[in-house]
Formats: sequence, structure tokens, C-alpha cells
Amino acid sequence: MKLISQIPFKTLKSTPSGSDNRSTGYLLQAGFIRQELAGAYIFTTLGLRVLRNIETIVREEMNRIGSNEILMTALWSKEHWLQAWRWDEIDVLFKLPAAEGREYALNPTHEEIVTPLIGEFIRSYKDLENCSVYQLQWKFRNEKRAKSWLLRGREFLMKDMYSFHRSAEELDTYFDVVHAAYDRVYERLGLKDTTYYTFASGGDFTKYSYEFQTDVGIGEDMAYICTHCGQSHNEEIIDSKDFTCLECGKKECDVKKVSEVGNIFKLGTRFSDAFWLKYQDKEGKENPVYMGCYGIGISRLMGVIAEKFCDDKWLIWPETIAPYTHYMIVMGDNLERARALAEYLEKDGAQVLIDDRDTGFGSKAGDADILGIPYRIVVSDKTIAAGGYELKSRLMNDVEIIEIHA
Ligand code: ATP
Ligand code: MG
Repeated sequence: MKLISQIPFKTLKSTPSGSDNRSTGYLLQAGFIRQELAGAYIFTTLGLRVLRNIETIVREEMNRIGSNEILMTALWSKEHWLQAWRWDEIDVLFKLPAAEGREYALNPTHEEIVTPLIGEFIRSYKDLENCSVYQLQWKFRNEKRAKSWLLRGREFLMKDMYSFHRSAEELDTYFDVVHAAYDRVYERLGLKDTTYYTFASGGDFTKYSYEFQTDVGIGEDMAYICTHCGQSHNEEIIDSKDFTCLECGKKECDVKKVSEVGNIFKLGTRFSDAFWLKYQDKEGKENPVYMGCYGIGISRLMGVIAEKFCDDKWLIWPETIAPYTHYMIVMGDNLERARALAEYLEKDGAQVLIDDRDTGFGSKAGDADILGIPYRIVVSDKTIAAGGYELKSRLMNDVEIIEIHA
């Protein structure tokens, strides 16, 4: 339970413009985010709760498939980057001059640090029975153009996971496990119906990489979705004038503007070769380690989810993402009663934001709308006289009076 009077961040009366999508305006109006520079954003108290809720869902699903959470560094040594030949290859790498003529990088991705890390702990085939690690960390990319606020930042939050295997077959098996975990993530985030598993360009080791592309009408990618089998293709791998489905061979497709909310990729031995990551099999022979990497754009997801769950007036967060599930408007001298009710509801899993400010009903109800909180409760002399409190579901738009038990 939280009293709104304790939060320094306030809502704005009107929706700021300045972005190419409407939800960014709502996020700004609600005071969830502020811009430090184009591509780097501050999350205020309520906005951070939204981000954390997304993180929690992702973390739970990664833990469920036995991956191990770690936290790697934001600063990197140049030596590791040179070792995998990417110091000059990655054009978005932020390079930092450091003391005594040294140079560091700010991490855009973590293969170069996770591979030698795991290398220290891998010796025999037994060490690779179940070897997967992940982190939730800020990434830095010197993008030429930051775009659409949270959708393309220069500093953004990512979940990145890396897995290590004894063979290409074992990698394939784990890859399917991760795919299923990703499906659960997007389902829990409320995006399942508009998220497409998409073939995209692969690397040396694999024909395709696989992207999770969400259609909310904004984003930078185009997905070509086969009308027959439903397989989605990133524009980059097809002939857009003469589409042929890479799964079923048919010719018809729908084209959608989408945003990439995650991807899974078989790296093969690209990084284990660069860092001499090997293991000994039962016969004592040295073999290469096969790797997979799996990303989810956490802060981008906040933008995508906001866009999906808004209309031309405001945001309405899904319950699992909302900063609080219930917005409790207290009128008159009923704060103690409201607190008791909030405590009672929280026993059942609700999270209650109490509007205890000394203002009129109109501005309180207005903020409930602007913040996009799914349930609104009114506790006033009037509702109490009518037998309890008023509960309104923003999504269903229905209002009922419920008895106070607290
Ligand atoms: P994109 O094609 O959008 O540039 P990417 O292919 O470089 O992304 P990865 O490096 O694998 O993606 O990053 C994993 C996830 O992180 C992406 O699927 C996306 O959701 C998110 N992401 C990537 N770049 C950004 C960015 N600049 N701002 C916000 N999120 C990003
Ligand atoms: Mg991509």
C-alpha cells in the first residue's frame, strides 16, 4: 500500500507530444518516465514498478527452466573485445578512454564476458549437463538514431541468457525449451495474440535466427506472415516482391509493422573458439562447446505493452504489469477505513495506491485514469452509506458496490 501524497512525481494535465507513438505521451503524462537525453530514460517510482513487473515475469520463467541469474559488468576490457575480433566490428560500441592510456567499452551485449567466465568453470562433459546463465542488465549502444523513446534507446534494459552445450543436438534441445519459456513470457505479458515467432537472418552456424515480433502498429521491422501456415518472416530474409513462405512454400502473406521484443540465436562455436572454451568427453578428448544466446528487450517491452494497452484517451495496464492493481480514492474523513480496506485487499494479492490528497473527486478520478491502473475504488461517506465501497473495473467499465469487510 502506498499513499499518493508521499510520491513526488505528479501527472500532467495534458498529453505531451514529441514522439511518433501515442503511448509515449501517456507515459510522460503519467510521470512514469523522463528523458535524460535522446535514447536514455529515467524511470520514476511508478514507472519503475512497471519495469520491475516485466522483469519479474521474465526472471520467473528463466528460473523455471533452470537458468542461473548472474550480474556481469557494464565496463569491459578492450582485450576481451579484441579476442573475439569485435572491437572494431561492432559499430554501436561505446568506447571509453580510461586512466593510463587504457580503453574500455560499455557493454552492448555480453558474449565476450560470459564465455571466458564460464570457461573458468567448465572442464569435463559433466560440467555441461545443465549450463545456462542469464542477467537483467542495462546495455549501451551508440545507436545512430534513438527512436520512439523506449523502443530504441542508447541505454536500455535487456535480459540476456547464454547456454553452453556438448553438442549441436543438445543445443537444439535446450533451444526448444527456451522457445517454450519465451512463449510463456509473452503470454503472461499479455502479448501472445500479437507476437509472431519470426525467421530472421542467421549467422555462420545457423540458417536463421528467431525473433519474437509484436504487432502493435509501431516498430521498425516488417513481418511477412504466411496466410496459410502462419509462419512469420523478417523482411530482411525474403524477396518482398515475390514472397514464398520458407515453411510451407505458399505465396500469400500479410505484412505487418512489428517491434522485436526478443530473439533466440544459435551461436554454435563462434565464441567458444575465440576463447578456447572446450570440454573433455568421457574418453578424455577435447571438444568444442556449443553456445546459444537469448535476448528479451525489457525496457522496449514497457513501450510495446503501453502501446498495446492504450486507446485514444489513456493507458489501461494489464493487472500483472500495472504499478498498482487498485487505485483507491478516499473522500472525506475515511483514510483509516481506506487503509484497513487496502490491507485487507492486499492479503488477496492486490496492490493498492491510496489517493489521500486533499483535492476534489474529479482530479483524483482523472489521475486514476492517467496512471492506467486497472481497478478504481472509491471510499466516501456516500459509498459507505450505500453499504461499502465502489469498485470499478477500467477494462470492463463496470461499477459495483462491495461490502467493506475490513
Ligand atoms: P534490433 O534489431 O531491434 O536492433 P537486435 O537484433 O540488435 O535488436 P539483440 O542485440 O539481440 O537485438 O537484443 C535483444 C533484444 O533487446 C531485442 O530483441 C530487443 O527487444 C532489445 N533491443 C535491442 N536493441 C535495443 C535498443 N536500442 N533499445 C531498446 N531495446 C533494444
Ligand atoms: Mg534484430
